[in-house]
Amino acid sequence: MEPRLAKRVVVALGGNAITLPGEEGSVEQDYANLERSLEGIVALLERGYELVVTHGNGPQVGNQMIRVERSLGHAPDLPLPVMVADVQGGLGYMMEQVLLNKLWSRGLSYPVSCLVTLVEVAADDPAMLEPSKFVGPVMTHDRALQGRDENGWDVKEDKGRGWRRVVPSPEPCTIVEKDTVRLLVDAGVLVICVGGGGVPVVRRDDGSWAGVGGVVDKDLASAVLGREIGARELYILTGVRKVALHFGTPEERWLGSMTTSQARSYLAAGHFPAGSMGPKIDAACRFVEQGGARALITDIYSLVEALDGRTGTWILPD
Ligand code: ADP
Ligand code: MG
Repeated sequence: MEPRLAKRVVVALGGNAITLPGEEGSVEQDYANLERSLEGIVALLERGYELVVTHGNGPQVGNQMIRVERSLGHAPDLPLPVMVADVQGGLGYMMEQVLLNKLWSRGLSYPVSCLVTLVEVAADDPAMLEPSKFVGPVMTHDRALQGRDENGWDVKEDKGRGWRRVVPSPEPCTIVEKDTVRLLVDAGVLVICVGGGGVPVVRRDDGSWAGVGGVVDKDLASAVLGREIGARELYILTGVRKVALHFGTPEERWLGSMTTSQARSYLAAGHFPAGSMGPKIDAACRFVEQGGARALITDIYSLVEALDGRTGTWILPD
């Protein structure tokens, strides 16, 4: 066999790669956004990288929940893990199609395949007892209480927005299809997987899998996948070109790089909030601490610029 020279990388696309803040998230809008946000992926393929692409699903699962809820009485209910799987398939199809068309128009032939992914979580994960991750649409207080009493939902006020459902967000332990992903990447396939963090599943005592009504953080799941398939680097693409200390204040300081120890002390000091930058920093640190060469956090449209050393924040080993 030829010696392997390609650089294996996991690229995790943030929510705004697919639906921009404030958009309703129509299929037309999502295609238009993917046209822009997948440019960087094609550029990496042209540079010879071996790629696995993961992505978020927040607004898309939220819309799916609205559809299911509104159609009750006409079509059967769907549990959250089935909705997460449905959305992985739908978004995976759209991403695959956009990528294949971009490659075709450049005269490149490169296999692309979307894989619905399960992620194992621990049944005794403490997060299971503390639903904290907001999912689905904003509701009135009355509707939230009705859902709680009639459907057993956990509901909480999303400050400044209204009432929403909350579900557990357990830690990802392992990607169930990791060997399949590795085989496909070894064979030269660009794999789209771990959509929305994957469908969380637990192993029952008899060894069988059971879906969990929760969601796994997609950046943490991407870090786990990255280590499990031997990726050298993890690129987390989001809404900012760089990570900052004192973000959004007059003392804001943009960082070009930091070691995992520095990142962890900034995290502990409160520079990276739990609902947004916090899990990205944690994911980047875990990936590097567990043997990854380095991790990058940058804007979806700045990937190539960041790889050329002109922007982005790198998380490096100590
Ligand atoms: P995604 O949807 O891409 O997964 P989020 O929107 O949840 O990401 O989180 C990324 C956002 O976090 C950034 O776009 C930025 O607005 C915000 N943010 C919070 N703290 C920081 C920080 N310290 N440095 C940079 N961005 C930050
Ligand atoms: Mg987000």
